[in-house]
Amino acid sequence: MGIIRPLDEHLANQIAAGEVVERPASVLKELVENAVDAGGRHIEITAEEGGLTFLRIKDDGAGIQPDDLLTAFRRHATSKISSAKDLFQIETLGFRGEALPSIAAVAKVRCVSANADDGLARYVEIEGGAVKSEGETNAPRGTEMTVRDLFFNTPARLKYMKTIQTELGHLSDVVYRQALARPDIAFTFRHNETVLLRTPGNGDLRQVVAAIYGTAAAKAMVQLRSDDPDYSLTGLTALPVETRANRNAVTILVNGRYVRSQAVVQPLLQAYHTLLPLHRYPLSVLNLRMHPALVDVNVHPAKLEVRFSKEAELRAFIEETVKEALAGQAYIPSGTSVRKPKQAPAWMQDQIRFQLPPEEAEAQAPAEAVAVAEVPSRGVFAGMPSAETRTPYAAGSGQSAAAPSAATRPASASPAVSPAVSPAASQQRKPPPASGGNGSLPAEQAAAASEPIPESVWQAAFAAPPEKPAEPAFPELSWIGQLHGTYIVAQNENGLFLIDQHAAHERINYEYYYDKFGRPEEASQELLFPVTMEFAPDEFALLRERLPVFAGAGVYLEEFGGNTFIIRAVPHWFPEGDEADVAREIADWVLQERKIDLHALREKAAILCSCKASIKANQALTRESGDRLLQRLGQCRQPYTCPHGRPIVVSFSKYELEKMFKRVMS
Ligand code: ADP
Ligand code: MG
Repeated sequence: MGIIRPLDEHLANQIAAGEVVERPASVLKELVENAVDAGGRHIEITAEEGGLTFLRIKDDGAGIQPDDLLTAFRRHATSKISSAKDLFQIETLGFRGEALPSIAAVAKVRCVSANADDGLARYVEIEGGAVKSEGETNAPRGTEMTVRDLFFNTPARLKYMKTIQTELGHLSDVVYRQALARPDIAFTFRHNETVLLRTPGNGDLRQVVAAIYGTAAAKAMVQLRSDDPDYSLTGLTALPVETRANRNAVTILVNGRYVRSQAVVQPLLQAYHTLLPLHRYPLSVLNLRMHPALVDVNVHPAKLEVRFSKEAELRAFIEETVKEALAGQAYIPSGTSVRKPKQAPAWMQDQIRFQLPPEEAEAQAPAEAVAVAEVPSRGVFAGMPSAETRTPYAAGSGQSAAAPSAATRPASASPAVSPAVSPAASQQRKPPPASGGNGSLPAEQAAAASEPIPESVWQAAFAAPPEKPAEPAFPELSWIGQLHGTYIVAQNENGLFLIDQHAAHERINYEYYYDKFGRPEEASQELLFPVTMEFAPDEFALLRERLPVFAGAGVYLEEFGGNTFIIRAVPHWFPEGDEADVAREIADWVLQERKIDLHALREKAAILCSCKASIKANQALTRESGDRLLQRLGQCRQPYTCPHGRPIVVSFSKYELEKMFKRVMS
């Protein structure tokens, strides 16, 4: 007789529980998903001690039929799918029929459910997989699941639970994601008697974001809305001001299910491009919808990962949608509304005290503007000649429906021309095909290269209504002086401007080098003293495969024996004296990246070169070179942030100055 036999159901459930029920948050996730699948409009969640001793999820959904109550706790019992075909058409959050039996195997569960409005309900109590009692009771329609003493019969698991605070963090995360996924459901979350979250359930995502991340964050987000034949994307994504240090800031929902997906995060970040500082993520809620056949949700034990069948198309769709949404927005922080006063130079701190009280600021701005973003409405738009005809908020409508607030209304349509600005610069605002090379790309290259941020993004915010061709309108500034060897102080008739000279120079150089890297036909030159670079054997092998990438950027490497390359030639415009350094850093980067494309390489290399070539802070500038810097900055495609996403310009509008000195009231 053989020794292999099927496990009994009880044991099978305990084993499955090991996979499905990792910690209290996994129980919560499964039970909330069931409540959502049942069509609940109000979902109440109560936890104690991080969910370890007590978790209750109560919904007003369809309820479980009396005859089904015990079956629901059987392994692989589900009402959600019935054939293999259904597995490729999943529209519910659950489908495996594993959660209830797994949870009941490792906790003490009481389930009360009613599937009609007659007040009659059934209950069942199960402990460690054994049914303790069942019978009739009274309850309104819906289901209430109470889970006590999780892991009471699996002490090894219990031992691995972290502090209550950690478990509570995981519980909150589950609740937040579900609340963001379903603004149409009213969620209440209590922990140890304190209400931690309450959402209105009126369908307004921005209100849910405000409840979770705060009102300021919710205001600094722009609406996403786009459809193509396969996909739709709605949601909110932050202006570059509202960033977070970790990728949890991004909530990805695929057909209502919270998932983690590089296929979605990467194009999102790509859309922000150089707008974000390094290692920062935008606060975003991305709600993707697609035919269930286009996504496989059955690839991860906790259903946290999915596989897309047309991933490349999806990536392009996401990047495009986010870029477009950011296109109506531009951002120069106003000196009086700098978000994090801590980061402002010390002397500015005093001025910040003069900041408008928030209610006042809101009262000034049109309701629509406040709903979209508060900060830019008080920024340097004041100085933009055409801000009146098109503010960021009027994007799409093209008219002055969202009239700028008093603080943003331009004082005059004609920009001041200071004698310090050369006549050539003052007449034209279109970038000339500058000798420096930071003008526009040749047409075919512009088409071929996917630009960091399309020029239109930056023009849209300031440009005239759509029918007129957009033109960049960086304010023309005249030099006042230099502050602390670090900032250029400048003015025009609309206000005072502080420019971070290093950031400005980096931006100018970045665009210069970015364009240069787009022209591999330009001759490379041999290094006078060829430099060798040695690598570990695996690195060497990988680099050898990727030599064409280097050649594409005009960097020619040759094998030199051992695990060494010799740098033969580099583009002639590499920053002088730093050629080998730059090549080495490009190599390090090529080794780290999993996928290399020309676009990413251009960007990386351009950032490297621009850092090397840029003036640093604490460097005296003459008026002449300062003027030249301002002028060239104005010709940049994206003059507002440095390639690392930090701001270049901060403004104090004339109006803001008058307010500070109480020359105007209101
Ligand atoms: P699944 O969700 O994968 O179907 P579960 O074990 O989570 O499996 O639940 C089993 C079944 O119990 C579900 O298919 C559903 O019919 C029923 N059920 C569970 N929770 C609820 C609820 N809150 N309201 C109504 N029915 C529920
Ligand atoms: Mg379920």
